[in-house]
Amino acid sequence: MDRRDFLKSSGSLTLAGLATSMIPSCAAGSSDKGKLAKFEVKDSFRTQVLVVGGGPSGITAAIAAARQGMKVMLVEQGACLGGMATRGLVQPFMTCYDMSGEQMIIRGLFEEIVDRMVAMGGAIHPKDVRWETPYTAWMKEGHDHETPFDPEIMKVAVERMTLESGVKILYHAAFVTTETKNDRIDKVVLLTRKGLESVTADFVIDTTGDGDVSASAGVPFYYGNGEGGVQPSTLFLRLNNVESDKLIADVESHLGEFRRVNGVSYRALHWFVEKAENNGEWDIKRKSVNLHKCVREDEWSVNVTRILDVNSLDSESMTAGEIEGRRQVEQVVNFFHKYVPGCKNATLMKTAETLGIRESRHIIGDFVLNAEDLLNGVVPEDSILLASNSVDVHGGQGATNTTNYTLMKNGNWYGVPYRALVPKEITNLLVAGRPLSATSDAAGAVRVMPPCMAMGQAAGIAAALCIKEGGKAAKDVDMEHLLKTLKDNKAFLG
Ligand SMILES: Cc1cc2nc3c(=O)[nH]c(=O)nc-3n(C[C@H](O)[C@H](O)[C@H](O)COP(=O)(O)OP(=O)(O)OC[C@H]3O[C@@H](n4cnc5c(N)ncnc54)[C@H](O)[C@@H]3O)c2cc1C
Repeated sequence: MDRRDFLKSSGSLTLAGLATSMIPSCAAGSSDKGKLAKFEVKDSFRTQVLVVGGGPSGITAAIAAARQGMKVMLVEQGACLGGMATRGLVQPFMTCYDMSGEQMIIRGLFEEIVDRMVAMGGAIHPKDVRWETPYTAWMKEGHDHETPFDPEIMKVAVERMTLESGVKILYHAAFVTTETKNDRIDKVVLLTRKGLESVTADFVIDTTGDGDVSASAGVPFYYGNGEGGVQPSTLFLRLNNVESDKLIADVESHLGEFRRVNGVSYRALHWFVEKAENNGEWDIKRKSVNLHKCVREDEWSVNVTRILDVNSLDSESMTAGEIEGRRQVEQVVNFFHKYVPGCKNATLMKTAETLGIRESRHIIGDFVLNAEDLLNGVVPEDSILLASNSVDVHGGQGATNTTNYTLMKNGNWYGVPYRALVPKEITNLLVAGRPLSATSDAAGAVRVMPPCMAMGQAAGIAAALCIKEGGKAAKDVDMEHLLKTLKDNKAFLG
């Protein structure tokens, strides 16, 4: 089958993530000028490890593999690294400490990235951030030692670290489809500014957040909670020119009124949300405002818009979600101007470039992580990271304004096993980040950025070991070697 036939016949040709600005066009001055682009696939790239998606998990996967001596290519549909942390304006990094708040347990490349950003004035080290403060939206349990950071500094810091490790970065490159031979991915097809180009790789790491590569290659998956429900999405915004002392004084005078009733959170500013609702000036399905102070004194990150039932695998659904998100942002900004002390002159500094997607595909791997194990502090023998993040399921999956937030019941941390990154069916593929093999609830705990970065680091090292060990299948990696290499690279494994 030639490549053109392959593309035509491939039922797995996925358009998820294609940016309209990237539709192949005839380059000015080329002989194709004035004609429709030809849908030929150019065999452009050859690499040992291909990482698809430059978010928190993709960055660390690429750096980790390159530091193991691999030739690595990292492709990203956008124009910067960071994924939700930069393009999505999501901040802070959720806790990287154990339940007692005494020990930093997500270290390795995550810590290196944080240290780099702290040195650049773009983050506050988590050791200096305690719960129930403006940096944690005054939230308490589960929110100790978060890491506020500046997304613009992150863009520079992670790009530099990635380039320093020798990774080839390709922006403006959206994943289109895979070509598989038996149980291996042979080629990955991208839509770039030149049209369709393929990458031949020995090993692929899927860090698209949506499991795009895995789904295309035939890995089984389920969507959302498997019953049609999916966590709501949020368009983040940032405000600056805030008189922070006045805002903080107001919230701190109401701390005693923070509560959760039937799964609904009444936290910061619920006393004003209620007034705005009564005045017909608030129709967002949230009763309070998740409001984090940022690194700079006058700047706040606002996580409050709530858009239900957005399917990130469907451009029409995403478009409707983005439009609704911006409608809600306007309402939120008016709310701050009118009701919130210190915010009369606040400026809408930025909205996220892309809707924040909490959930889409969960791939099926050799192990399906479940919430009971996490909450009970189970640490499987092949754990490649330890974490203590709570199960956080917004919107009760379909319901309008409820949130299930469950803290660990036993132990100080739980483990995420390597097997949850090993997809079924394809042998030269690992998945890291949001779509790992987990139940919807369990993913609601480990989808946050520090564990995603730790998963990426483990996947990058594992890919390198599989290649060095003669082209082993992901599931057959030398586990002892993997865990030792992780520890040698400053991961904390207990
Ligand atoms: C509303 C919301 C609030 C959150 N709050 C927090 C929080 O406070 N703290 C915290 O730590 N975490 C938080 N999270 C979770 C966290 O941001 C994400 O789960 C995490 O970023 C996932 O990392 P990832 O690398 O798997 O995917 P992503 O961050 O989504 O990165 C995926 C990358 O792959 C690229 N990509 C996707 N598809 C393609 C394709 N087809 N071709 C090429 N490139 C592609 C994307 O452009 C992106 O850069 C929140 C998430 C949301 C949505």
